[in-house]
Amino acid sequence: MTTAQGAAPEHHRLIIVGSGPAGLTAAIYAARAELAPLCIEGLEAGGQLMQTTEIENFPGFPKGLMGPELMLNFREQAERFGTTFVTDDVDEVDLEATPKVVKVGPKTYTADAVIVSTGATARMIGLESEQRLLGHGVSTCATCDGYFFRDKELVVVGGGDSAMEEATFLTKFATKVTIVHRRDQYRASKIMLDRARANEKVEFIEWAEVAEVLDDGTGAVTGLTLRDTRDGSERRIDAQGLFVAIGHDPNTKLFTGQLDQDENGYLVTQAPSTRTNLEGVFACGDVQDHTYRQAITAAGSGCAAALDAERFLASIGDLPDASVDANRDEAEHPTGAATVGA
Ligand SMILES: Cc1cc2nc3c(=O)[nH]c(=O)nc-3n(C[C@H](O)[C@H](O)[C@H](O)COP(=O)(O)OP(=O)(O)OC[C@H]3O[C@@H](n4cnc5c(N)ncnc54)[C@H](O)[C@@H]3O)c2cc1C
Repeated sequence: MTTAQGAAPEHHRLIIVGSGPAGLTAAIYAARAELAPLCIEGLEAGGQLMQTTEIENFPGFPKGLMGPELMLNFREQAERFGTTFVTDDVDEVDLEATPKVVKVGPKTYTADAVIVSTGATARMIGLESEQRLLGHGVSTCATCDGYFFRDKELVVVGGGDSAMEEATFLTKFATKVTIVHRRDQYRASKIMLDRARANEKVEFIEWAEVAEVLDDGTGAVTGLTLRDTRDGSERRIDAQGLFVAIGHDPNTKLFTGQLDQDENGYLVTQAPSTRTNLEGVFACGDVQDHTYRQAITAAGSGCAAALDAERFLASIGDLPDASVDANRDEAEHPTGAATVGA
């Protein structure tokens, strides 16, 4: 095979697409198994945690640490064992081909196995002030950030199950949680809506959208300008936090038509493994998980993807002897793939 420019593609045993907690954990495990993985880390290298400030719930860091620092630690650990990185986005893939083809600009890479860990992107309202105050009162994750909002007044934007669940959860910390919704009809299931309505700390403002996130020059959220969706009139409400709960988009466009996706575009894996519908292609992290969406769950599934890929490569006879360290015992943890060194 030659590329459009005539150069031979660069071949790797394993290519990992994405460098959030899932991709970098897969890289650490694959590199320690001497698979010399290539991680195409994306233009948003490090993933979602690069956008945030303090992480208090990642095990092993009792004092917490900043999101970017955590991700630099992940990357350094992956590099230490022999992961190489390309800092760019993948533009095109052919995962049905043998070997699998991964294109980045003019450069073509091939691989015997591919791990997809391209994550998901939280939908935002689209305001400059919202972007500027992300991590300073604006959040897309109540599980992650709720703890920082003890005794504060909060707003949750959205009308689906996630918005109801986040609002109800946030009442553990906040004095008041106001759900702001554009209409008086909700996508949320009746049970979730009823639960939020029954909570005395939850209030609803209907027929309203957030027009501006205010900080009054403090650098942290102090209030919101709400716009009436019927007559356009505006008013201010005070709040120290805004949780945007209007959904997530998995980063899966690249794989449409090749990898099976559910109705919301998330990749489908063959639980309890990380296998996709294509042999030798594995998926981990938020790109295949709309339920948990946490750094630790993404990292856990990244570990599983590397082990699954290692076993797949062994099954096709493409594994260096040194990699046969059998991170686990096949008899105890069968994956359906051939056993390394068994
Ligand atoms: C503001 C915020 C705060 C959060 N706080 C916490 C917290 O406190 N604790 C916690 O556990 N979780 C937290 N989370 C959730 C956590 O960040 C995610 O669950 C986790 O990052 C998911 O990891 P991932 O590896 O699956 O994907 P991501 O982190 O989304 O990484 C995806 C990677 O794929 C790459 N990529 C995408 N498309 C391409 C492409 N075409 N080519 C190459 N690469 C590509 C991106 O560049 C990125 O490197 C937070 C999330 C946000 C947004």
